[in-house]
Amino acid sequence: MASEQASFLGETGQLVRAVGRAMGVTFKNLMRRPITVRYPTVKRVYPDRFRGILALTYDPQTGEENCIGCRLCEYICPPQVIKVEMLKAEKRNFAKTFTLELYACEFCELCVQVCPTDAIIMMKSFDLATADRRELLLDKDRLHALGLQFDPSWATGNRLRDMQAPPRPAKAAAAPAAEATVPAQSSPDRRAPAAEAAAPAHNSPDRRAPEPGAGAPTAKSE
Ligand code: SF4
Ligand code: SF4
Repeated sequence: MASEQASFLGETGQLVRAVGRAMGVTFKNLMRRPITVRYPTVKRVYPDRFRGILALTYDPQTGEENCIGCRLCEYICPPQVIKVEMLKAEKRNFAKTFTLELYACEFCELCVQVCPTDAIIMMKSFDLATADRRELLLDKDRLHALGLQFDPSWATGNRLRDMQAPPRPAKAAAAPAAEATVPAQSSPDRRAPAAEAAAPAHNSPDRRAPEPGAGAPTAKSE
């Protein structure tokens, strides 16, 4: 009987201590500022490298569309949610049509990485929730509108490729010549001219087109 009473008192004591600890945590946080925000009335400021929804861009200098319709993004996209039709013009090419099925996008960013003209980028927002799937089938106009509506992420194709490029040979004799060209062109994309050159000729915008082209003589030599 005495042992049962001691056990009961022990368990009651444990319970009171546990409730006391829990209430202590509650009172400690009662006066703190909440870490949540009342979205969508209040929106957080996203970091520069936030990668959200995709959009198309205009050239701020000329106001022209940056997309040249090269279809590299279409070819690289793993779930194949991008479809581009090229419109050939005299001075440069454009995208005649450009559709992106955002509902099936993996947000892998590969399309951004391969784009030679920084035409497709990610925005600092994910704010495109809808109950209608058809609203996430984005055409060219909608993608351009999104590019104007939200702030762009830091990442562009040229920046990402520059970041991932192998380190240049340091202080070699050829360095002065190479450095002389780099500032003049503001780090041009080495694959951009190849893509433009390859597309009109064969309509096959493979980003590795220049290398097979350069390698053709060796095939003959075999
Ligand atoms: S982020 Fe990836 S999955 Fe989405 S459109 Fe670009 S390449 Fe395709
Ligand atoms: S890779 Fe860039 S330029 Fe080429 S079609 Fe896609 S968005 Fe346009």
